[in-house]
Amino acid sequence: MYDVIVVGARCAGSPVAMLLARQGHRVLMVDRSSFPSDAVSTHYIHQAGLSRLKDWGLLDEVIDAKTPAIRKMNFSYRGIELNGFAEPIDGIDAVYCPRRVVLDEILVNAARRAGVEVIEGFTVSGVVSSDGRVTGIRGRTGDGPEREFRSTVVVGADGFHSTVAKAVGAGLYNVRPASGFIYYSYFSGLDWGLNHKTGFNENWIGTWPTNGDVTMLATICARDQLKEFRQDVDNRFQGVFDDIVPELGAELRDRGTREEPFKPMRYPDNYYRQAHGPGWALVGDAGYHKDPLTGWGITDAFLHGELLAARLHEGLAGERPMEEALAEYQATRDEESAGVYDYTTTLAELTPLPPFLDLVLSSVSTSQEWTDKMLGLIAGGVEDHEIYAPDNLKRLFDDAGVPEEKRLYDFS
Ligand SMILES: Cc1cc2nc3c(=O)[nH]c(=O)nc-3n(C[C@H](O)[C@H](O)[C@H](O)COP(=O)(O)OP(=O)(O)OC[C@H]3O[C@@H](n4cnc5c(N)ncnc54)[C@H](O)[C@@H]3O)c2cc1C
Repeated sequence: MYDVIVVGARCAGSPVAMLLARQGHRVLMVDRSSFPSDAVSTHYIHQAGLSRLKDWGLLDEVIDAKTPAIRKMNFSYRGIELNGFAEPIDGIDAVYCPRRVVLDEILVNAARRAGVEVIEGFTVSGVVSSDGRVTGIRGRTGDGPEREFRSTVVVGADGFHSTVAKAVGAGLYNVRPASGFIYYSYFSGLDWGLNHKTGFNENWIGTWPTNGDVTMLATICARDQLKEFRQDVDNRFQGVFDDIVPELGAELRDRGTREEPFKPMRYPDNYYRQAHGPGWALVGDAGYHKDPLTGWGITDAFLHGELLAARLHEGLAGERPMEEALAEYQATRDEESAGVYDYTTTLAELTPLPPFLDLVLSSVSTSQEWTDKMLGLIAGGVEDHEIYAPDNLKRLFDDAGVPEEKRLYDFS
């Protein structure tokens, strides 16, 4: 009998399991994958997420894996340019984009070192219940016999096709349709830094240096282009770079060599899922998923994994009723992620911005101080009110020289 069984051992599952085991709880973690292994995901981690890795004693392992440090952001959205870098968060003055084959192994190993029992290659087929309460999981390794394991709580950290969520019937809410699809791969011959740029159509490019002296390149386009894109991937991919930043397009054609097959994905819709019930909880993409455009999935998996582990500990230690602790977990998750969810799903449309956001970002782009502050907000180190409180907005619009009648905000 375990205190907690965690299904899924990547960005959300391993931190929950590790943090609970460090507090002395008996934890089993299972995953149908074996590690090290890759996942379909690009790799950007915000400073807020890196600060969790630092706190857990794992950031140095990411850096030691020769993950390049990035200290300059080049963002543009329909002509609004934000070039700079956020102030350090917890002393972290760079961002990193570790390949998932690197990051996820560091996380699983840390959980194992903390005392978590890990079973790899184990596919969960459902949960075990008794008197309306989840009491364990069932599943098997390969073609082996079905096995059951029991626990006080089962945590589904098994991604957006979560088997645990389906088994417990967790409902979706605040669903917003997905708008795009991605193609990405790794290229040698380019010494590019970090770029996130849209043109004036519904296309986007991203570039990030990563492990192995290669640069990861991605394009995101609106869904209605998918059929044509699929028929001629190399040329379409090149065409998006040519269109958005012709200089990068030319360099890609002249010097870039693709080192691996493209990885494509048509995004699932954005959603929140009910995150707890009797004997179960969901974390990471299993409980909350949004478009990857703003690169917040891994950071949120860390933040919410830590939050869930703290609430589970309170319940397991008898400090408060488990149901109350888990209800607070869901409420905090929803409240703290609401701004990022809204911002992400708005930007992910790749269409013209709502007028007020357009005005704020255009104003921010007129000075380095405001640009770095906005990049700090995006990185998770600056509070919303530092830009959006009326006094600060007024100062921003004054600095940017926005005439009173064009401020789209009632300061009275
Ligand atoms: C194309 C793309 C690009 C992205 N880019 C970024 C980015 O740059 N930065 C960022 O922060 N986020 C990014 N994200 C989001 C990020 O990948 C996810 O938010 C993050 O991986 C969520 O972690 P997780 O642990 O919840 O789920 P996952 O990483 O999906 O892990 C789930 C695990 O559960 C296991 N599992 C599933 N079902 C079962 C089962 N039945 N039995 C046993 N095991 C099971 C799987 O094998 C897997 O190992 C991107 C996502 C996509 C799709």
